[in-house]
Amino acid sequence: MASEKKPLIPAHKRAELEALLGRILKDVKPTEAEMGLATRYANEVMLRLKKVVPGNVEILSVGSVARGTQLRGSSDIDIFLLFPKGTAEDKMEKKGLALAKKIVKKGKRESYQIKYAEHPYLMLTFEDVGLKADIVPAFKIKDASERITAVDRTQLHNVFVNDNLSRGQKDDVILLKAFLKAHGIYGAGAKIEGFSGYLCELLIHHYGSFIDALIGMSMLKPPVTILPSSRKEYRYPSKESIEFMKKFDKKLVVIDPTDSNRNVAAVVSDESLARFAITSRILLKNPSSGVFYGPSYSDVYSERKLSRIRKELDLNIYVLHFRTPDIAEDIIWQQIRRLGSSLSGILRKSGFHPVLVLENVGNGEAILSFFISRSYASYLVVEGPSVFMEESAERFMQAHSKSLGMLFNSDRITFLEEPRFNGPREVIQASLLDKHLLPSYIKKEHMKLHINTMPESAAKLLYDAFMRKTSL
Ligand code: ATP
Ligand code: MG
Repeated sequence: MASEKKPLIPAHKRAELEALLGRILKDVKPTEAEMGLATRYANEVMLRLKKVVPGNVEILSVGSVARGTQLRGSSDIDIFLLFPKGTAEDKMEKKGLALAKKIVKKGKRESYQIKYAEHPYLMLTFEDVGLKADIVPAFKIKDASERITAVDRTQLHNVFVNDNLSRGQKDDVILLKAFLKAHGIYGAGAKIEGFSGYLCELLIHHYGSFIDALIGMSMLKPPVTILPSSRKEYRYPSKESIEFMKKFDKKLVVIDPTDSNRNVAAVVSDESLARFAITSRILLKNPSSGVFYGPSYSDVYSERKLSRIRKELDLNIYVLHFRTPDIAEDIIWQQIRRLGSSLSGILRKSGFHPVLVLENVGNGEAILSFFISRSYASYLVVEGPSVFMEESAERFMQAHSKSLGMLFNSDRITFLEEPRFNGPREVIQASLLDKHLLPSYIKKEHMKLHINTMPESAAKLLYDAFMRKTSL
């Protein structure tokens, strides 16, 4: 926050935090041996690639390993093959993957998989050392305006981070990643909808240090736009802030210093942002490793634990449980969330308000679950249009003539009706018959509805989702 006076925390608090972070860094930063191994394997992959790629294709090590910002145990290597612009995109992808395949020494405990993110890439696994290397074909560019594929920017990120972050700040990136990971908000995938590695790097650059990032987040008043390139912040209702809000439509906007048309925080959900703000406040108030690492829990006896929770809260748990198809997990997450929000809308309209809606995906299975109070009203409140919208009011009254009674909510007609369904089970079952409701990869035939009791594998997924949702 270069634009204004830094907010202060008492000097003794800062010293206490710094001492704590020094101890934590020793646990979360990769050891010299791990870093050495990652560098050795990155060099090995690049050397092998050099022997097979044509002279006009550049080989570049990127990502957190190349920048020295990786967490301990996450030293996965990212190598880019940069093709000259002018190559056709599909040709570049095909050729890149073919070249990458050539360097895999199968039979030497090496294997590969072709993966698809926004863009296809090859994931090479070195089984002996438990390291992975992503080999990603892209275009060589000098400026974001020349970008053709989504990952072309990555090479520019590398330059920005290496030019702008000191070694000490890179350690602060590691601390920030560890803190966010411990609180379930590290990563830009559909499961987490949190803060990516590059976003962490930009936040440390912008605020200056991990502690200053905590202070900044603890006082955040969204909507806020951060410009890491100049370390400026625009707050509502300044003219600039309103323009950025219109353009990006998010509570937190962090403009990519390598591409002013991109919000690096685009996938951060409001909940992830809120969690970051609140955990920052708690850690600043009470600097302890317990707060830094957050609550821990074990998922053994999940069904028993859920049963206790269910009884304490006096509610029923409805769980849709299914095997997941063999597609990218992000797609399943998106689809399961969409189904969850449609079903909870229908449940609410039918008089059964879910207190909690939880989803989870893992080990080839997925769950979508609704926690609903055991007691529900014997009538349904149906709110209609204003009396003064004459035609719609007329239509509404005809459609609801069998109502138990009529009330007014201000000038809106409101009926009390007999519920159409006896309980949430019927609502869920009837809704699943509607083909339009089910997303493409979720099939009714593969789904089982459990109420309160469920197989332990489903209970584990559910308990994990419950703990992530309800703890800080
Ligand atoms: P981690 O320590 O979690 O691996 P990372 O920064 O290496 O962090 P990766 O997900 O491995 O993150 O991605 C490698 C690099 O690719 C990132 O640093 C970033 O520069 C770039 N990158 C990742 N996702 C995108 C994307 N959607 N668009 C453009 N660049 C991306
Ligand atoms: Mg990485």
